[in-house]
Amino acid sequence: MARHEVTLIPGDGIGPECIGATVEIIDATGVDIDWIERHAGERVFKSGVASGVPQDTIDSISKTRVALKGPLGTPVGYGEKSANVTLRKLFETFGNIRPVRELPGVRTPYAGRGVDLVVVRENVEDLYAGIEHMQTPDVAQCLKLISAKGSEKIVRLAFEFARAEGRKSVACATKANIMKLTEGEVKRTFERIAPEYPDIESWHVIIDNCAHQLVRDPAQFDVIVTTNMNGDIISDLTSALVGGLGFAPSANLGNGIAIFEAVHGTAPKYAGTDTINPTAVLLSGVMMLKHLGEFEAATDIEHAVIATMLDGFLTGDAVGYDRGLKTSEFAAVIRSNLGRRVDGWSVRTAKPIRMPQVPRSLDFRTPTTKETVGADIFLESPLHPAELGPSLETIAAGAPLRLKMISNRGTKVYPDGNPNIDCVNHHRCRFVAREGQTVTMADALRLAQAIGGVHEVCHVERLLRIDGADGFTKAQGED
Ligand code: NAP
Repeated sequence: MARHEVTLIPGDGIGPECIGATVEIIDATGVDIDWIERHAGERVFKSGVASGVPQDTIDSISKTRVALKGPLGTPVGYGEKSANVTLRKLFETFGNIRPVRELPGVRTPYAGRGVDLVVVRENVEDLYAGIEHMQTPDVAQCLKLISAKGSEKIVRLAFEFARAEGRKSVACATKANIMKLTEGEVKRTFERIAPEYPDIESWHVIIDNCAHQLVRDPAQFDVIVTTNMNGDIISDLTSALVGGLGFAPSANLGNGIAIFEAVHGTAPKYAGTDTINPTAVLLSGVMMLKHLGEFEAATDIEHAVIATMLDGFLTGDAVGYDRGLKTSEFAAVIRSNLGRRVDGWSVRTAKPIRMPQVPRSLDFRTPTTKETVGADIFLESPLHPAELGPSLETIAAGAPLRLKMISNRGTKVYPDGNPNIDCVNHHRCRFVAREGQTVTMADALRLAQAIGGVHEVCHVERLLRIDGADGFTKAQGED
């Protein structure tokens, strides 16, 4: 049998209890794992490491390429970043896989409805890149970055995961109807790639309807692929469908690297009480075993968990803390059930996931044509658009760009402004090439400099036309 090296991070709060129970059960299957214990989280922050992840932990994961971790807390007053986010970013684990399935004995409004689905969430892009700026003292901005390469990777991962698990369908959940370029990129990528997987049914669903459908009829879903923030929200929803965070495992997958952890956090009020539910971490360990190719051990543990729960052994989160088993007792029953098989409850026979192979080049998509057709110059100004507009037209009089319109939070307010708009001091001033002129970003920056002599410029955005299509959206009311 193969020997595996795995970096083990016990984590904070209830982490060491969950991890302790999980390691005991995995070891009891006979799988040969060399657990290399390393640390991250609260105690590391307190020792002065601002990222919460020390170098020897990074070195260990770089070497083993597989980690099982407990939840990590970010103590207020130490460090600035979440150690979890640091780990995801450091190792570019772009795919977060969050399965949920109904388990016996857990009473929820959905019991008996066969919930068994997986959220495949993009893990490193989107609004969670954390790029925020105050545009004016009144107006904050968060950049939503979605790349063609990131979309390709997450969509392919979802289909490959579906194939590895023998799942029948993949739904892509986006808000492409509103955010046509960012969320739309994921939708278009999905629609382009789906025909490569004719054995898997595919469809697109708008994310808000997806939430609605998940509550009405969750069994219609198998795999859902979605962007970072959408996935964060709907995967908490899906964990509630099967009884809560105590039952929700996850895997963070990158190319050649994988970090397994529960969805839940450190639940500090239960730390050291031997009462919490270790199932989420244990099922994360099952995902890890499948990743290591130890399918038999993974299947054994899944059957043992189901057998334990069918026999009525449950922790306090499922049946009340006055009646629930202690964490250590629950783990001991699962261990004693290893080798048992349960009628009527199936366990998926999974194959290894074929990780998407996507070129690492920075220029992922090479268009045939790309031209600058104008620029949006964003201003902080207390002026009403009816005053600002003529002032900008005067400044731009000799420039190759002309003012097309001004919008305020996405709605056109000049010319022919809408009197209902309650403007704020942040104006998007759209300049386009004058008839017969070609323009460059340098022209736009020269204009921004001239405007900056009179008004306060916040930032400048290029207006690109790529392969004949506008690489920008129109304001509400813009023709
Ligand atoms: P949390 O730790 O997930 O706990 C929220 C609640 O969920 C608990 O109070 C408890 O509910 C229930 N719960 C969670 N895990 C459970 C388990 N294994 N067994 C039984 N019940 C469980 O969320 P939080 O309180 O918002 O966050 C606490 C800390 O964890 C924060 O520092 C946060 O940053 C961190 N965090 C870390 C991760 C991670 O490392 N991946 C993820 C999320 C949060 P009841 O109170 O109803 O009993």
